[in-house]
Amino acid sequence: ASGYSLLRDPHYNKGLAFTERERDAHYLRGLLPPTVISQDIQAKKMIHNIRQYQVPLQKYMAMMDLQEMNEKLFYRLLIDNVEELLPVVYTPTVGEACQKYGSIFRRPQGLFISLKEKGKVLEVLKNWPERHIQVIVVTDGERILGLGDLGCQGMGIPVGKLSLYTALGGIRPSACLPITIDVGTNNEALLNDEFYIGLRQRRATGQEYAELMHEFMTAVKQFYGERVLIQFEDFANHNAFDLLAKYGSTHLVFNDDIQGTASVVLAGLLTAQKLAGKTLADQTFLFLGAGEAGTGIAELIALEISKQTNMPLEEARKKIWLVDSKGLIVKSRMESLQHFKKPWAHEHEPIKGLLNAINSLKPTVLIGSSGVGRTFTKEVVEAMATYSERPVILALSNPTSQSECTAEEAYTWSQGRAIFASGSPFPPVEFEGKTFTPGQANNAYIFPGFGLGLIMSGAIRVHDDMLLAASEALASQVTEEHFAKGLLYPPFKTIRKISAHIAANVATKAYELGLATRLPQPANLVKYAESCMYSPAYRSYR
Ligand code: NAP
Ligand code: MN
Repeated sequence: ASGYSLLRDPHYNKGLAFTERERDAHYLRGLLPPTVISQDIQAKKMIHNIRQYQVPLQKYMAMMDLQEMNEKLFYRLLIDNVEELLPVVYTPTVGEACQKYGSIFRRPQGLFISLKEKGKVLEVLKNWPERHIQVIVVTDGERILGLGDLGCQGMGIPVGKLSLYTALGGIRPSACLPITIDVGTNNEALLNDEFYIGLRQRRATGQEYAELMHEFMTAVKQFYGERVLIQFEDFANHNAFDLLAKYGSTHLVFNDDIQGTASVVLAGLLTAQKLAGKTLADQTFLFLGAGEAGTGIAELIALEISKQTNMPLEEARKKIWLVDSKGLIVKSRMESLQHFKKPWAHEHEPIKGLLNAINSLKPTVLIGSSGVGRTFTKEVVEAMATYSERPVILALSNPTSQSECTAEEAYTWSQGRAIFASGSPFPPVEFEGKTFTPGQANNAYIFPGFGLGLIMSGAIRVHDDMLLAASEALASQVTEEHFAKGLLYPPFKTIRKISAHIAANVATKAYELGLATRLPQPANLVKYAESCMYSPAYRSYR
C-alpha cells in the first residue's frame, strides 16, 4: 500500500509515531512533518485537546474523529482515561449524538440494514470489510436510552457499546460489528426532519418486522458461525423479550437492557448483602417499574435466592414485588398483564401508589426502574428507613434528570442509613461529618467482561447461571476499603482487571455447562482472559 493510504487507514495509521525506518519502508517520506513522537506524547496531546472543549458533544465528535483517524490512539486514550471518557463516548453524551446523528456525521459507521435490504441481508453482511466477527451489537432504534424512538439514528448506541467492548473488555476492534436495523420510525419530528438519515415511514410491525429480523438472525449465523455473540440493544420491551426468547435456544444472544442490567444490579445487591449483614432471602424487594430492567433484575434475584437457599424459584419470586404504571402487580390483574409481568402477579389486594405499596409490604430493598424521575420522595425514603435499619435504595432510571432521587436526598432523608446506588453518576455526599460515596450501577461493568468470557470459551449459548457468575465476579472485586465508603461497586479505574475476572467466571460456567467449544479448557482463565485482550500499543511495521 502507498504511504498516503496508510495514513488514511485508521487500523494502521500511527501519525507522527511512524519511525524513521517505517517512513523509509512505507513511502511516507514527506507526507509527515519531520518530527517523530511516541504514542505517550500523542495521547497527552489528544487528551489535552479534548479537555479544551466545554461542550460534551464536541468532546464526543473529537473522539469519533480520532477513532476514524487513528484507532490505536483512540483506544489508548479511552483505556487510560476511562472514568473521564466513558460519559463522552457513551451515556449520557451518546444520547445527544444520536438525536443529532443526521447532521453531525461525516462518514457512516457500522452496517445499516433497512427494509429495502429485505431478501438481501446476507449480501449486505458481505459488504462489510471484516470477516472474522466476534460480537455484533444491534439495535432497531425504538428505545434509545431514555430518549425513545430515534429510528436509524440509534446507530450511535451500537458504535459506542462496541468501543467499550474493546476498551473495557479487550475485544479486537476488527471483530466488532455495529448494526442498525431500520424498519422506520414513529418519531414525528424525525419523519419531518429533512436531515433524517433513515427510512421515512412509520415502523413496520408484526410479520413484516419479524421476517426482517429472522432473515438477519439467519444470515448472521450462516455467515459468521455459531459463536458470534449478538447483543440486542435498546429495543422496545415488546420486541426485546420476544427476540430473546425466540433466539435464545438457537443463537448466542444477550440483551444488555434485560440481562446485563440484571447482572450489574445483582452484583450491587450481593455487596449490599455483606454491608447490611442480611442475605438476599432475608430481604423484601419492591420495584417501581416492571419493564426490561425491572423484570430482568427481579428474575435474576429470584434465581440467586433459589440457588443460595435451595428454595424453588416460584417461592423465591414471592419475595419480590413490582409496581407498574397501573399500580402493584397482583393476581387479580393477571388476565391483562403482558407475559413478562405474569410471574410477578402475587396474591394481594390491589394497591395504587408507591407509598401505599411500601407501607403495606414493608420492603427492605427499593429499586427504581420506571424511567420516571423524582419518584422516591422524602416520604418514600423516610418510609423505607422506618422499616429497616439499612434500607437499600437503587435509583436506576437514566439519565440523571430521570433519577428517582439524588444521592444526597437518599442519604439525608434516611439519616445516613441508606445503602444507595444509581444508574447515573452522583458525586460523594457529606452528611453529619461522614462522606458517602454512591455507587453507579453501570452496565459497562458487566457486558464487556461477560462477552469476553463467552468469546474466549467459544460459548454457543448464554445461560442464566453465567449472569450469576458475572455478578459474583464483580461483587468479589469490591474490597473492605470500598465497603467502608459505602461503595457497592469497585472503581472503574481497574475495569480491565475486573473484566478479566468476570470473563474467567463466565467461561468457567460455560465449560461446566458444556456450552464451551474452545477445548481444552485453559488452566488459568483469568490469565488467559488477560492474554486475549487487545492492546492499543502500536505494532512496528517492517
Ligand atoms: P421499560 O421496559 O419501558 O419499562 C418501564 C416500566 O416502568 C414499565 O413497567 C412502566 O409501566 C413503568 N412505569 C412508567 N411510568 C411509571 C410510573 N409513573 N409509575 C410506575 N411505573 C411506571 O424501560 P426499561 O428498559 O426497563 O428502562 C427503565 C429505566 O431504567 C430507564 O430510565 C433506563 O434508563 C433505566 N435503566 C438503568 C440501567 C442501569 O442503571 N444500569 C440499566 C437499564 C435501564 P407499564 O408497564 O405499566 O407501562
Ligand atoms: Mn441499552
